[in-house]
Amino acid sequence: MTAIPAWPPQSAPRLYVATALGEGVSVQVDGNAAHYLISVMRVKADDIVLLFDGRSGEWAARARDIRKRDLMLDCVSQTKPPETVPDFWLCCAPIRKGRIDLIAEKACELGVAKLQPVLTRRAVVDKLNLDRLHTHLVEAAEQCGRTALPELGEMVKLDVLLRNWPADRHLFFADETGGVPIGQALGSHRGPAAFVIGPEGGFDPIEREAIRAHPCAVPVSLGPRILRAETAALAATAIWMGLNGDWNEDEL
Ligand code: SAM
Repeated sequence: MTAIPAWPPQSAPRLYVATALGEGVSVQVDGNAAHYLISVMRVKADDIVLLFDGRSGEWAARARDIRKRDLMLDCVSQTKPPETVPDFWLCCAPIRKGRIDLIAEKACELGVAKLQPVLTRRAVVDKLNLDRLHTHLVEAAEQCGRTALPELGEMVKLDVLLRNWPADRHLFFADETGGVPIGQALGSHRGPAAFVIGPEGGFDPIEREAIRAHPCAVPVSLGPRILRAETAALAATAIWMGLNGDWNEDEL
């Protein structure tokens, strides 16, 4: 019996596009994305490329009019519905370049809904290249099969974040000086959530007091050792995803 080829082809490249996708939509791809498809992935006419736009799921698109620096892709069918994104925000202080990039990439793979940079007094970095972080989010989403990109917030100061905090969202505060054991904290606080992670220098006492005083705040311990900020950010996110996120859903 001849094997029926998998659809969409397993080898099909995956690309994020800003264009709203849908039945019969055609997308012109140029620049780096075209170079990747044409020169790296050697896409030929009629080949399938998987597209997602962050809102309408994933679409198989057929390639045509392939030129040196651009090509056209015609949506032929939806291959994945829009993903249901776990309602989790990762709020972290800006840390050194390579490490904040790691947080962005891994947070996307882990499934966060929003990455919110928070400026704290002891942060050694006080500005971020959001375009670069957005690129990491896109590349991670293309690789891990997400159809939605995490929202990337503009950097805000901690006091502004706390003042504007949504009343229905648990604010799990990763406090290196101690807090509720994470399993217990997450087990008793379901629903929209966020973790706030400090910078290399940690939170200063005034910041710690301000966070703990917030009505939505739950101080959480991530164990007896002092973790690097990126370790704390990714460990806390992974545990939330495992206990309250979408890692427990049966295979669709
Ligand atoms: N300067 C701090 C110190 O030496 O105590 C360390 C800060 S740590 C590198 C960066 C952030 O990771 C902390 O602000 C906290 O949010 C989180 N973190 C690290 N270890 C933690 C733990 N055991 N429990 C809770 N949060 C932790």
